Amino acid sequence: MQTVSDQYQDIRDAIRDLCGQFPAEYHRKVDEARAYPEEFVDALTKAGWLAALIPEEYGGSGLGLTEASVIMEEINRAGGNSGACHGQMYNMNTLVRHGSEEQRQRYLPKIASGELRLQSMGVTEPTTGTDTTKIKTTAVRRGDRYVVNGQKVWISRVQHSDLMILLARTTPLADVKKKSEGLSIFIVDIQDAMKKGMEVRPILNMVNHETNELFFDELEIPAENLIGEEGQGFKYILTGLNAERTLIAAECIGDGYWFVDKVSEYVKERVVFGRPIGQNQGVQFPIAEAFIEVEAANLMRFEACRLYDAHQPCGTQANMAKYLAAKASWEAANACLQFHGGFGFACEYDVERKFRETRLYQVAPISTNLILSYVAEHVLGLPRSF
Ligand SMILES: Cc1cc2nc3c(=O)[nH]c(=O)nc-3n(C[C@H](O)[C@H](O)[C@H](O)COP(=O)(O)OP(=O)(O)OC[C@H]3O[C@@H](n4cnc5c(N)ncnc54)[C@H](O)[C@@H]3O)c2cc1C
Repeated sequence: MQTVSDQYQDIRDAIRDLCGQFPAEYHRKVDEARAYPEEFVDALTKAGWLAALIPEEYGGSGLGLTEASVIMEEINRAGGNSGACHGQMYNMNTLVRHGSEEQRQRYLPKIASGELRLQSMGVTEPTTGTDTTKIKTTAVRRGDRYVVNGQKVWISRVQHSDLMILLARTTPLADVKKKSEGLSIFIVDIQDAMKKGMEVRPILNMVNHETNELFFDELEIPAENLIGEEGQGFKYILTGLNAERTLIAAECIGDGYWFVDKVSEYVKERVVFGRPIGQNQGVQFPIAEAFIEVEAANLMRFEACRLYDAHQPCGTQANMAKYLAAKASWEAANACLQFHGGFGFACEYDVERKFRETRLYQVAPISTNLILSYVAEHVLGLPRSF
């Protein structure tokens, strides 16, 4: 079957080969144990895939977000979960595009070789939620250091990363003209921070997504770890957030194809009332509908990637791709679970695991409501509601 996703076949073939060494049972066991897919992430790192976005002069392969998104899509399409390692992809351009030459030299070759992992991004806070410009974590300059105090929530892969990109307020909200000003981003050395004022508390959650509460008590960060100009961090973090939305759109598309393939196979084989259940149009139509929606979402995903790689504004397309893809994968997940009947609930079919995993993306990294609000206000010019 020819799909929008047939482009970039060489990357797809290579990722499929690698994923073939980690079959469904592997991901199922990792999920059951609530463990981290260490061997899988190591294999991706050794093969260079998690250095895709690092320019060649720093030891990476210098690919674009488009190719990175194909890697993520294929992992999910093969039954895995890119959530274990997508942080390195979406954080990368924040450092590549906005970091100083000194920072790029210091970190990128080591990330490319696998010596360091850049898997974490600390933005969300418990008391402000999606209202990011109101975050309360502060970073105050004292000599050659910034001193960080505050709290974050849902910060993923902290235990499996060496570095984190942290968003904090460096100028009080009351002292800036625009609420998006006065925020800054920093590279945090996680091991060092855990000894000097950052506490990490894991949050047990519905998916096997390693995520945490973070508490900062007088954490000192060297001033040289500031990325770009102080006060401009919100602008820089959008580079990461747009990449994140686009990559997660690709992951949802991978999930969508996985669900459609899985259920299509099943309904051809499962015989009830003397014929395959897939012969009933009541069964066929939701699957066909889900497939159409995945394909349509995929077009928007490639458009978002194209704009991102061309350094053009892509916020609208990144948001719309994420919205469409998360919705399409969720529809596909529902059809897949529904037509597996009771077997959909049995862990050994992997449907319930993928169902949980793809559900996350209606909420994170940005909820569907907030995307609708963005499009209504920023694209259509409707009155602002907040
Ligand atoms: C497993 C997991 C991993 C995560 N990893 C990270 C991470 O690594 N780093 C990080 O920084 N964050 C991370 N997050 C946080 C994630 O980005 C947020 O949960 C998400 O942005 C929603 O924010 P919130 O939970 O504060 O919801 P809230 O902002 O409290 O919103 C709750 C709900 O209310 C609705 N809502 C809110 N405001 C409005 C409005 N104005 N109009 C209409 N509806 C509205 C939305 O439907 C939303 O879903 C993660 C979350 C999860 C669950």
